[in-house]
Amino acid sequence: MPIDPNFRENRVATTFENLKVWKDKASNLGIYGTGVAVDFDLCVGDGACIDVCPVNVFDWHGSGADRKALPARERDCIYCYGCEAVCPKFAIRVTPLQEKKRQEK
Ligand code: SF4
Repeated sequence: MPIDPNFRENRVATTFENLKVWKDKASNLGIYGTGVAVDFDLCVGDGACIDVCPVNVFDWHGSGADRKALPARERDCIYCYGCEAVCPKFAIRVTPLQEKKRQEK
């Protein structure tokens, strides 16, 4: 199931390995990010988003089978939606800044 567009309202902010994440009752790891959000519970660490991103938004968080794609430079995002398109688990939601501001009103 793709990331809830209102996850920041519908989940609770907490931390996972020093990262701010949003969790609900079903979460183990939570969702990280704002403009480029990754659901760490869905991410399988295949690196498709890292390979496709033209502006190098993502880093790896962790290693091996447990690694996750971390949108470490989401401010650099140019909203091409490539990462959303290639993710096999629908673990990424990209929200342009204007849309994010509208949601927060
Ligand atoms: S939308 Fe495009 S630019 Fe933004 S993080 Fe995804 S692949 Fe990178």
